[in-house]
Amino acid sequence: MEKRFVYADNAATTQVSKPVLEAMLPYMTEHYGNPSSIYSMGRKAKRDIENARLKIAETLGCGASEIYFTSGGSEADNWAIRSCVLSMAEKGKKHIITTAFEHHAVLHTCEYLAKQGFEITYLPVSENGLITAGQVKDAIRSDTALVTVMYANNEIGTILPIPEIAGVCNEKKVIFHTDAVQAVGNVGINVKEQGIDMLSLSGHKIHAPKGVGALYVRRGISLPNLIFGGAQERNRRAGTENVPAIIGLAEAVSSACADIPGKVRKVTAMRDRLIDGILPVECSRLNGGRDNRLPGNVNISFLGVEGESLLLLLDMNGICVSSGSACTSGSLDPSHVLLALGMPHEVAHGSLRLSISDETTDEDVDYIIEVIPKVISRIREMSPLWEDIINGEKDMDSLLKWVSPVRKMVNQ
Ligand SMILES: *Cc1c(COP(=O)(O)O)cnc(C)c1O
Repeated sequence: MEKRFVYADNAATTQVSKPVLEAMLPYMTEHYGNPSSIYSMGRKAKRDIENARLKIAETLGCGASEIYFTSGGSEADNWAIRSCVLSMAEKGKKHIITTAFEHHAVLHTCEYLAKQGFEITYLPVSENGLITAGQVKDAIRSDTALVTVMYANNEIGTILPIPEIAGVCNEKKVIFHTDAVQAVGNVGINVKEQGIDMLSLSGHKIHAPKGVGALYVRRGISLPNLIFGGAQERNRRAGTENVPAIIGLAEAVSSACADIPGKVRKVTAMRDRLIDGILPVECSRLNGGRDNRLPGNVNISFLGVEGESLLLLLDMNGICVSSGSACTSGSLDPSHVLLALGMPHEVAHGSLRLSISDETTDEDVDYIIEVIPKVISRIREMSPLWEDIINGEKDMDSLLKWVSPVRKMVNQ
């Protein structure tokens, strides 16, 4: 098969779509006014960002005044969590509940707050990558300030029972935040119907540019200033708005959510073909179940393979993927998400995340299915761990129980 270029890392970032680019361009060329200026070009910019805010609010099922523009998902997560717990600390509430497999934007914020005297409960994740509303309910205490649980995991693609978790928090009157960066456009989200108090989203995961995102904060929840200066974002985040990016974000959010069932059907079919095409590789394992899984996510571990080598060999074949998360690649520690599932380091190390989008084609899927088994065999030929496994030399039961069987035992 001829070499082709296949981008299968949409959970790391996406290509800006044509409609998004076209919506943005006039704001860099013709309508470049400052939204704070009072002549007509400024007023137009102001009006258009307020329309963008309304468009996002309508898509999420909230009011426009509950949406704040940010520089992305990380900023939204930081702002939500830090602001909320600081105001709750004044009431003596210094306990935060989260999960062991959140994005680092949440986990590292919690680690920082732990140093500031907050107590953090990291809910354990099941082997299939889920947590339950019951776990949250049992962890809530009288001094709990905040529960923050991601809507969908960025590495293994599991979709968490957010409406149920939010329901438990509402019942116990604890503020509930969700990092919905990976869920937007893949899961129907209505913050009011689902009882969500705060929600983070990011543009560049849904075909808008990098460096823009939004935070929804329910009216009534206090949100302290993030940046002091001008009066932008209702006095809470000063600085001249990134008008083109905001216009692009609104276009991206509304088109991502325009036909979720249609897109889910199409992308899930390709995802399942990928899973079915790759899993026959011996000693492999799908991380996270097929149910409650993002339509575009495939995460598979291969015993006797280094994720980094796999990534580089796939790159030589024109395929862009990720091993673990983009933020942690470069370090040799296995993904905290895979370790949270209880997986041994040796298995977690050989993991691959493919994240496809509605722009992926059937030919792309065929190509990936053809290349991966070849690349795995090549890596395994050079792996001492693999040699031990096929020779049945050492006791590997603790590793082998995580993966599909060795197909051909070599008797030497
Ligand atoms: C990408 C991502 C973020 C960070 O968003 P940025 O816009 O890159 O800051 C946060 N949470 C999740 C789940 C993500 O996938």
